[in-house]
Amino acid sequence: MESILSFYESQFRWLWIMITTPSWSNFFWIFLGLSLGVWMLEIAMPWRKGQAVLRKDFWLDTWYMFFNVFLFGAVGYSGISGHVKAHLASAFPYLNAFHATLSQMSPWLLLLIIFVVRDFIQWNIHRLLHASDTLWQFHKVHHSVEQMGYAAHLRYHFVENIVYGTLEYIPLALLGFDLVDFMAVGVFATAVGHLNHANFNLPIGPLKYIFNSPQMHIWHHAKHLPEGVKSVNYGLTLSIWDWMFGTSYMPYDGRDIELGFKDVERYPSGFFSQMLAPFKRH
Ligand SMILES: [Zn+2]
Ligand SMILES: [Zn+2]
Repeated sequence: MESILSFYESQFRWLWIMITTPSWSNFFWIFLGLSLGVWMLEIAMPWRKGQAVLRKDFWLDTWYMFFNVFLFGAVGYSGISGHVKAHLASAFPYLNAFHATLSQMSPWLLLLIIFVVRDFIQWNIHRLLHASDTLWQFHKVHHSVEQMGYAAHLRYHFVENIVYGTLEYIPLALLGFDLVDFMAVGVFATAVGHLNHANFNLPIGPLKYIFNSPQMHIWHHAKHLPEGVKSVNYGLTLSIWDWMFGTSYMPYDGRDIELGFKDVERYPSGFFSQMLAPFKRH
């Protein structure tokens, strides 16, 4: 117990140092810059012109961003990383040769590999969040968004941090990737994730077969889908997996479609009630 407390104490000190020492090399300020940048795009060139700048649940989602990235995400993540890697290295000594090969690679190629592998793992985890009835209760928080905007990107139940963190980090750490690489890839993925939820028209032409976009992801949040289709467009940063595995769906311009799920208007609307919702009887 004491070691957990001292661990969190040091993590919070680290967070505090990041906040109080503004610099473009620290994650807090990079994140803030990214968020403001995408928000400015929304304000300057909105896709849904009638949507208020401070749309429904804007502040709730702003709180979720801070909570999931800083109070829960980055703090927890940086803690497990060192331990997990050390344990894995001793449990699977044969990996050392593989890790030595990786360390010979160009750092850019390595980042690209991590990015693609991580994105594919995340696409699978996202499918699982929809396929499992239990996990869906947690993932519903993300789908309770009724008016889309960039901050909705990080409206999700903290249990998703644990599900994603465990399922994606362990295989990637096993492959020998470091937290520093994760951070670099994470910054790029955060920027694309913000954009995918933004009230912004981003016509990317044939690049839509590679990258997700606000025009594709909005269909993932559609309240109504054709009979028998559970969900579509599971991609996070890349859209390749959806095109490859037949889960892509963009029938027409989804700018004004209804978002959410059946009875979304009766879903809890506050942070604490949403955190508790999955644990209640349905
Ligand atoms: Zn989803
Ligand atoms: Zn989303």
